[in-house]
Amino acid sequence: MNMYHVDTKTTCDPDDKWLMEFEEKYSCPECRMVFRHVFSQAIDVAVDEHPGVAAMNCVTPPFVDFIRCDFLDLFKDVLKEDIHIGRVFRHGQLLEQYRTFTSENRLIVRGRENVHWRKCPACRGFVYSPGDFCNWYVLSSSLIERDFYISSKGGFIMTEELRSRIEKGKWKGIIIEKIPVLEKPLDGFDQLPKELMFL
Ligand SMILES: [Zn+2]
Repeated sequence: MNMYHVDTKTTCDPDDKWLMEFEEKYSCPECRMVFRHVFSQAIDVAVDEHPGVAAMNCVTPPFVDFIRCDFLDLFKDVLKEDIHIGRVFRHGQLLEQYRTFTSENRLIVRGRENVHWRKCPACRGFVYSPGDFCNWYVLSSSLIERDFYISSKGGFIMTEELRSRIEKGKWKGIIIEKIPVLEKPLDGFDQLPKELMFL
């Protein structure tokens, strides 16, 4: 089976005041990562710049993905209830044509020998980086009965059939790459700790 990683090519600056409040409430002061439980609900964001035409985007920091509503509509029949849809504001105005999306249940992108990881002494979160894209894969054992996932690296992972809904040349600012599905992990971890943080 072929799976595809669909992600944004671009990022969007946060509103400074919103970012300060968000980080104070939802990030670990030591490792700066957003606490994992925060992704179990819809997140509203405030951006400083206009997101423009890109189909997918990411408020960076703190790395919250958002998407154009017309692009999200391509997948509305496969969105499960554990994918949470929030709002995007700019200078106090709701940007109607964009939504954030997030989930605590993500398909974990794994790496090979050269992965980086550390455990935060403050929040006990496990920060794992699978390295360069060319090393990425997902494990067949982590696939559940669905065709559409939120990726641990941001963006989506989906089947070939769903990917074919994305008309070539129509959508700007996204990158689509085939991601291998492997039987065995190549990063030295049989299983990643459940305290895994998302970046
Ligand atoms: Zn931490």
